[in-house]
Amino acid sequence: MADLSVWEKESYFAPRDIVIAGSGLVGLWSAYFLKKRHPALSIAILERGIIPSGASTRNAGFACFGSATELIADTMNLGEDPMLELVEMRYKGLKKIRKIFGAKTIAYEKQGGYELIAEEQGTDMDILRGNIDRLNRKLKKITGHAKIFRLHDDKIKEFGFAGIRHLIENPLEGQLHSGQLSLALLKEVQSMGVLVLNNISIDHFEKVADGILLQTTPSAAPSAPVPSGPPPRDQRPTQTIPLFAHQLLVCTNAFARQLLPDLDIRPARGQVLLTSPISNLPFKGAFHFDEGYYYFRNLGDRVLLGGARNKDFEAEQTFEPVTTDTIQQELERFLQETILPGQTYAIEQRWSGIMGMGTEKMPIIKAVDDNLFCAVRMSGMGVALAPVTAEKVAALMR
Ligand SMILES: Cc1cc2nc3c(=O)[nH]c(=O)nc-3n(C[C@H](O)[C@H](O)[C@H](O)COP(=O)(O)OP(=O)(O)OC[C@H]3O[C@@H](n4cnc5c(N)ncnc54)[C@H](O)[C@@H]3O)c2cc1C
Repeated sequence: MADLSVWEKESYFAPRDIVIAGSGLVGLWSAYFLKKRHPALSIAILERGIIPSGASTRNAGFACFGSATELIADTMNLGEDPMLELVEMRYKGLKKIRKIFGAKTIAYEKQGGYELIAEEQGTDMDILRGNIDRLNRKLKKITGHAKIFRLHDDKIKEFGFAGIRHLIENPLEGQLHSGQLSLALLKEVQSMGVLVLNNISIDHFEKVADGILLQTTPSAAPSAPVPSGPPPRDQRPTQTIPLFAHQLLVCTNAFARQLLPDLDIRPARGQVLLTSPISNLPFKGAFHFDEGYYYFRNLGDRVLLGGARNKDFEAEQTFEPVTTDTIQQELERFLQETILPGQTYAIEQRWSGIMGMGTEKMPIIKAVDDNLFCAVRMSGMGVALAPVTAEKVAALMR
């Protein structure tokens, strides 16, 4: 990037009340709620990718708040109150998304959700029924519905699944278009006066009087060779651009330890594949398997399937946004043997995104000190969690 002009320094790179690192859903929602609370704030979001480059536009688009066996496992691992708190944040988040944007803008469809329990899982039915009843009683306080989860084994045949013994239905689940949601939110915050700069990374920061001085690096764009001009870009020292903010809000999720090394957060790659259209696809909705480690949904008449990270936890703890044979072959096996047995289709697309996980599932929403805040660790369900997470961090910031 060329040296900045005085105009650029005094506009794009002028001091801000708040700079937000990361334009994923949490960064965008945070800007939204900060502006709602304090319209006069000057806010800039700095995003290192040309578009959001973590998980927000690379996910499965489930508008969900947790499958039954996942919530039962969470109750055992985290305790009942944290499990309920998480469900409440997700449930309220989904309601806010729909209220603010409406179904059409984000292609929201309420097709319901289902969890598949395989024959070889050998689940004790009495224990499962007991756990579902208990879960339903607890969740009623949050959703107002008496029977959120219910067994619906009669649909297994209709949906054409193989090797599945039980199906647990959740009629409150839906699905949306993650790209449309992200774009709608981007347009909304821009209309509120938030400046969003892309291709610029916050490398580090230091505390200064009354605020924070950020060192940022714009990504090098390819440039044509200049015969008699200055040396080519790759021979110049990397240019950093300083930017002052009264407050910095870190919303970089999996990547947060680059700026805040003490946080309990690590990357977890999620891989996805998408089939070609399937004539007379026998199911619609959002489906979960194996405590949420596998998930699939219809996208029109195609099937989007993701997960299987638990088949190779170590290799999937990475920032590399690529797909691997190990996980993709496992997804294809599951697709062929369980979801679409006997069907003909091709795999049209594969991709991955990077989630932020930690030893706990609760998001980290906190003031690190007077001028420094973070809202990270969405634990793989950030579509739903982001609005309430953002609202909470906005309330913490002056
Ligand atoms: C395959 C997959 C499927 C998923 N499916 C679902 C689902 O169906 N439903 C659901 O609720 N959740 C799902 N998730 C999780 C959900 O997408 C995430 O929890 C959510 O998007 C996290 O949002 P975020 O804003 O915290 O992080 P991100 O979207 O990762 O945003 C962080 C941003 O920070 C930027 N950044 C990083 N470092 C810097 C820096 N130094 N300077 C500037 N910018 C920086 C990154 O480029 C990135 O754009 C899925 C995730 C994956 C990967």
